[in-house]
Amino acid sequence: MKVMKFGGSSVKDAEKIRDVVSIVKIESEKAQETDAGVAVVLSAMKGITDTLINCAELAEAGDEAYLESFKAIAQLEKSTFIELIGKDKETEALESLEAMLLELSEILMGVKMVKECSARSLDLISSFGERMNNTVAAAYMRSIGIDAEYVDTRELVLTDSNYGAAKVNYAESYKLIKERIKGVSGIAMITGFIGSNEEGVTTTLGRNGSDFTASIIAAATGSEVVEIWTDVDGVLSADPRSVKNAYVIPEISYQEAMELSYFGAEVIHPYTMIPAVDRDIPILIKNTLNPSAPGTVIARNISRHSNPITGIASIKNTALINIEGNGMIGTPGIASKVFGALADSAINVIMISQASSEHSISLVFRSVQVDRALEALNRELSVELKSKRIEKFVIREDLEIISAIGDNMVGTPGIAGRIFSALGEAGISILSIAQGSSERSISFVIEKKHSDKALNTVHDAFLTN
Ligand code: ADP
Ligand code: ASP
Ligand code: MG
Repeated sequence: MKVMKFGGSSVKDAEKIRDVVSIVKIESEKAQETDAGVAVVLSAMKGITDTLINCAELAEAGDEAYLESFKAIAQLEKSTFIELIGKDKETEALESLEAMLLELSEILMGVKMVKECSARSLDLISSFGERMNNTVAAAYMRSIGIDAEYVDTRELVLTDSNYGAAKVNYAESYKLIKERIKGVSGIAMITGFIGSNEEGVTTTLGRNGSDFTASIIAAATGSEVVEIWTDVDGVLSADPRSVKNAYVIPEISYQEAMELSYFGAEVIHPYTMIPAVDRDIPILIKNTLNPSAPGTVIARNISRHSNPITGIASIKNTALINIEGNGMIGTPGIASKVFGALADSAINVIMISQASSEHSISLVFRSVQVDRALEALNRELSVELKSKRIEKFVIREDLEIISAIGDNMVGTPGIAGRIFSALGEAGISILSIAQGSSERSISFVIEKKHSDKALNTVHDAFLTN
């Protein structure tokens, strides 16, 4: 079997759903020649998840404007259905779509009344995008004679209750998926992004999580390949919106893809690689807008290029906290206290570096977490602050982490030096540096205002097609 995932970028309107379905049709006919099948994982329509979250936030703030956003969603979903199928066919699917919209409007009204939207409610609200889009797409396929069935992953992907970024119970989910997909009539149209906890409460796997769903489905069903269909020709050597010379990387290793996506390349969700590596399933990135382009293969054994770096990526909107104090020198235990305090407050440290003098530790966070990080540090390290073992916390905001990634860096000396001298010549100063212990990545922090210049400088110095 083969799993094909189409992202929101591929489905902005009825016409694009037709394009997706025609790609699926061609691939499924090809597969049938060898007695194989395809399963499809589809995201919400373009922008719908953002709009759903925005609706929830407005409703929580008691702002009537949420209704306008809700109406825009309802209008788009219904008009897409009618444009694709009309009003007289697939009436059960149309009723199901209308029932979902009614339920969503009631949930939003409830949020507005109580002026509170928990992470749990937000996951339920966000889940409607995938559910509605797959309902519409499956109905459209049937209406043109393609056997297709809607599959809701809340019955299949079991997670913990960490709403917004739920962790998957692979073993249990694999069992359920395998059974369910076996029984599907025709092509399974599977909701990406969503799952449920032990009590059956809706959860989500994190933004961009449909890629991850596709790879879970592929691993569970023993598929030969996962195809991630998006709006670019593959994994590029840098974000094409910032670096105009970025080019498609034909083959990339699982680890490189994982590092690139962890450091901001949203073309693929970092967790997508986990089930794929486990079962050795190659991932192919393809362009819905340009299906004949070969795309990028992400796999274990790949043919290597000769550049020392494979690609660069960046995480925007970050902030740094520098923990400084002479009393930290030679005093064991401070780092563990720091990380314990942050972990207890569920704060994610993206990058860590310690000066060799041990006089300071710098930690980089997403900007939205930095206030909470500071509170946690002040609370947990109050004794060290009083005794002056730690002198102060220095905060720098409006930063960006840039990361250069490549398996070829392993064991090749001098790359960091070359990166930093190129940046120096371009007049860009670096606030902190860290190298991943795998030696596959070198990350550094700069001021956000230098972002494009820094990305282009490193790209041009190392990356040639
Ligand atoms: P989808 O909706 O299909 O999941 P996303 O918007 O999540 O699509 O991801 C695709 C986008 O990722 C591209 O349009 C591109 O702008 C962005 N992107 C960032 N970095 C990279 C990269 N290194 N290679 C390819 N695309 C990238
Ligand atoms: N629709 C979800 C999001 O926008 C999941 C996805 O597109 O992968 O984050
Ligand atoms: Mg995506």
